[in-house]
Amino acid sequence: MTKALLSYGRQAIDDDDIAAVVETLRSDWLTTGPAVERFEADVCAFTGAKHGVAVSNGTAALHATMHALDVGPGDEIIVSPMTFVATANCVLYQGGIPIFADVDPDTLLIDPKMVEAAVTPRTKAIIGVDYAGQPCDWDALHTIARKHKLALVADACHAIGAEYKGRKTGTLADISVFSFHPVKHITTGEGGMCLTDDEKLADRMRIFRNHGITTTAIQREKTGGWYYEMAVLGYNYRITDIQCALGSSQLKKLRGWISKRNDLARAYDTALAETAVRPLKKRNDGIHAYHIYVARVPERDIVFKRLRDAGIVANVHYVPVHLHPYYREKLGPKEGLCPVAETAYKEILTLPLWPGMEAADVKRVAFTLR
Ligand SMILES: *Cc1c(COP(=O)(O)O)cnc(C)c1O
Repeated sequence: MTKALLSYGRQAIDDDDIAAVVETLRSDWLTTGPAVERFEADVCAFTGAKHGVAVSNGTAALHATMHALDVGPGDEIIVSPMTFVATANCVLYQGGIPIFADVDPDTLLIDPKMVEAAVTPRTKAIIGVDYAGQPCDWDALHTIARKHKLALVADACHAIGAEYKGRKTGTLADISVFSFHPVKHITTGEGGMCLTDDEKLADRMRIFRNHGITTTAIQREKTGGWYYEMAVLGYNYRITDIQCALGSSQLKKLRGWISKRNDLARAYDTALAETAVRPLKKRNDGIHAYHIYVARVPERDIVFKRLRDAGIVANVHYVPVHLHPYYREKLGPKEGLCPVAETAYKEILTLPLWPGMEAADVKRVAFTLR
């Protein structure tokens, strides 16, 4: 008998989600209408951030962030190598230079000591990645940012719903970015959002997502005018009402999903105790959102294949960004630049974790691993 494949992540869509999307399909606005504003307000209410700017995906959100912070040619941006390529690509889109600072071996979060060591007179910002769903050491990063007058960006694509010392992600940096790709906690199909308390930064990102045009169609409809101006070179990074209706509906379930993800992670911790599989460390100063459950595994490539043969689809997050061929060619740095991330890369395995899983699935994965 063939068992269903157990994938590393998966969306959960229910009838309420479907009804919310159908409602927008019957409405006057398919894109950049009331559902976009509602979703932005919903995510702000959830996180406590003042302004939300919803865009077409998390990568566009990172690009808008770099634009808002006026990143340009020659500017250095300190980033974690243990992330999805988009975290560093957004710097290149603006002509900036990503500078990789190594991670902490226990959590694989960017190491503030390495960040401090990477600061130069050309540094403009730091992008911390809340890897796996666990917030970075934001207090330490803030201290460095204040001292050197740098902007602080949170790539929180793994971490909506996480908390750091009682504060929610979305409020932990000057600008925070979420993704709503289907493997993330809540989905809009494709989608992303920039969160900030700074009205000027929010305005710059709003204009950037709409070609650099200073008014939106819905604003012009309200005032009855036709005239518009393009003030800066922007992009079409808009998200649709159809997608945002799904986002608002999904957000209602996020709290329950975070707690389910934590339950499953604890079940893994227990089932894997006293084996050679070593889960990454969970700090005890907040709430881990567990976007992914990552462990160090001996003979990782063999284990990956044996799991796959048993119908369990694990994954590896991530190939350190500076080791990708494009980055090797572009920036020159290769092996040895971030030894902690490079060593971790050879051992890490992402085990299946999503809210629709049951304790029996965790047992099956742990049994197969053993
Ligand atoms: C998913 C992700 C992104 C990009 O988001 P998209 O919506 O896929 O463009 C960026 N950074 C991290 C850490 C991510 O996990």
